[in-house]
Amino acid sequence: MSKFIFVTGGVSSSLGKGLTASSLGRLLKCRGLRVTMCKLDPYINVDPGTMNPGEHGEVFVTHDGGETDLDLGHYERFIDEDLGQNSNTTTGWIYRSVIEKERRGDFLGRTVQVIPHVTDEIKDWVRLLADDDVDVVIVEIGGTVGDIEIVPFIEAIRQFRRDVGRENVCYMHLTLVPYLVTGEQKTKPTQHSVTELRSRGIQPDVIVCRSDKPISENLKRKISNLCDVSMEAVVSAVDAPSIYEIPLVLHDQGLDGFVCRTLGIDEASHPIDLSQWEELVRRVESLSRRVKVGIVGKYVSMPDAYMSVVEALRSAGFHYGTEIELDWIDAEKVPDLLGTDRIRQLDAIVIPGGFGVRGVEGMVAAAGYARDHAIPCLGLCLGLQVMVISVARDWANLPRANSREFDSLTPDPVIDLMPDQAHVTDKGGTMRLGSYQAALLPGSKVSEAYGTLGVTERHRHRFEFNNKYRTRLEAVGLVCSGTSPDGRLVEFVELADHPFWIGTQAHPEFKSRPDRAHPLFREFVAAALDRAEGREPHLLDLDRVP
Ligand code: GLN
Repeated sequence: MSKFIFVTGGVSSSLGKGLTASSLGRLLKCRGLRVTMCKLDPYINVDPGTMNPGEHGEVFVTHDGGETDLDLGHYERFIDEDLGQNSNTTTGWIYRSVIEKERRGDFLGRTVQVIPHVTDEIKDWVRLLADDDVDVVIVEIGGTVGDIEIVPFIEAIRQFRRDVGRENVCYMHLTLVPYLVTGEQKTKPTQHSVTELRSRGIQPDVIVCRSDKPISENLKRKISNLCDVSMEAVVSAVDAPSIYEIPLVLHDQGLDGFVCRTLGIDEASHPIDLSQWEELVRRVESLSRRVKVGIVGKYVSMPDAYMSVVEALRSAGFHYGTEIELDWIDAEKVPDLLGTDRIRQLDAIVIPGGFGVRGVEGMVAAAGYARDHAIPCLGLCLGLQVMVISVARDWANLPRANSREFDSLTPDPVIDLMPDQAHVTDKGGTMRLGSYQAALLPGSKVSEAYGTLGVTERHRHRFEFNNKYRTRLEAVGLVCSGTSPDGRLVEFVELADHPFWIGTQAHPEFKSRPDRAHPLFREFVAAALDRAEGREPHLLDLDRVP
C-alpha cells in the first residue's frame, strides 16, 4: 500500500511549494523509499502547453509527451525519476474527462456534480499514481487555500484520507512567516491559512514555515498551540543560499523523520543516506571558476520561462566547479548589440526554444555571430532552426531563407512544417512531443559529447529541417550530425571547425540532473571555460567558407 503526502500552500503564492515538496521527495528517497510526485493545478487550462511562458514559466515536457507545469522539472531533478504526463493534471483536464463520461452516458442519467463526480475524478487520478513500485506519492496542490478554484481539490484530498485510511495520509501545509520592519516575525497569516484549511475539513499534520530568518522556539510553540500540531511538526524553512540546500535545511528540522512517523514508516529500517546530496551541495558551495553565458531569447524578463535550460547550465557548471553567470539578452535587441563589448565578453551563447516571430531575426544574427567569432553556441529546438537559417543565408547564398513559421512566403523554407503537422488546427497537445531516438554521426562532436551513437531526447515542435536543402547546406559546411533512426528528420547540426556550434531539434535540458549534467551542456560549458580561461580555441577556418 502506497502512502500519500498532500502539500498545500497558504498566505501567498511563490513560496517554493514545488521545491519544498521536491526536497521532501529527495529526503524520502535518501531513506530508500520509492517516491513519485504529482501536481494538481486548479486552473481551467487543460494543460500548460498553450499557456504563455512569459507569465506561467516554462512548459516542462515529460518523456511520454506531457506538456506540464515547470514544477515537474523540480520534481524530476530532485527525486531523480522520470515522471509521466499523469503526474500533472488541472481543473480543465478533470472536467474534460468528467464531461466526456457524461456524454458517453457513464453516469446513467444521474445529475453530474462537483461532489462526487469531480472529486472522484481527482481521487482516481491520484490513486493511479500508486502502484506496487511506489512507497510514497507526494501530491502538490497548486495555488493557495482560499482560492475559489482550489475547493474541489481540497475536498477530494480530504475525502482521500478517509478512503485509504488515516495512517496512509499526511497533510503538509506551507505558509509564510513574514518579518516586519518592527523586527518581529508574525504568525497571524499562518494561523489564518490553517484556519481556512480546517474550515474545509483538513487539519494539517505538518506546517512548514517559510521565512527569511529562522523561527524561534517561542514562535514554533505559538504556532503549535494555535494550529494544534505538535512542536516537532512546525518546521522552519529559512531561505537557503541555493535551492539544493533546501533538503538539508528541512532534514535538520526533522521534517522527513516526522513525516515517516506520521505515515507509520519505520525510521530505523529506513535510515537516511544523504551523502550523495551533500556531495552535490559541497560542489555547489565551492565553485571557483566562472563563465559568462548569454541566453538569447524573448522572455528574458521572466527567467522561469527557461527554468530547465538554466538548471542544465548550472549542473554543467557544478561538474566543472564553475559558476554560470547569466546575461539575459533580449533577442529583439541583438542586432544593435552585435560587436559591442556586451556580446564580445560572453564566453558562450545559448539560443533556447520558442515560438512566434518576435526576436527571431536577433537569434539568427546571434547564431551567425557566434559562428563567425568562434563563440561556443548551443541551439535548442528553435535554436537549431535559427542556426540552420543563418548558415543558409550567410554561406549558401539564400538571403531570404527562413522558417515557414516566420515567413510563409519565403522562397527558401530551410525549416518547414513537418508533414504530419500540416492539417493540425488545435494548439494544445498536438506537436511532436516526448522522447524520440536519434542516430548520431560517428566522429561528430555530438557523438563524442554523448559517448554513444544512439540517444533519446524529448521534443516539442512542429517545424523541422527541410531535407530538400540538406545537400546544399552540407556542401557549405553544415554537418547534420544526428537524424531520426530512419534518417528522415535532422535532429542535430554542428560545424566541424568550431569550438562548439551545435544545435539540436530536441530539448536536452529536460533530462539534465543536478548531480549528472547532461553531456551536451557539460561539453558546452567546457568550451565556454576554454574561452574564458584563454585556452586556444579551434578557430573556424573562414577561408573554407564560400
Ligand atoms: N517554433 C518551433 C517549432 O515549432 C520551435 C519550437 C521549440 O523551440 N520548442 O518547430
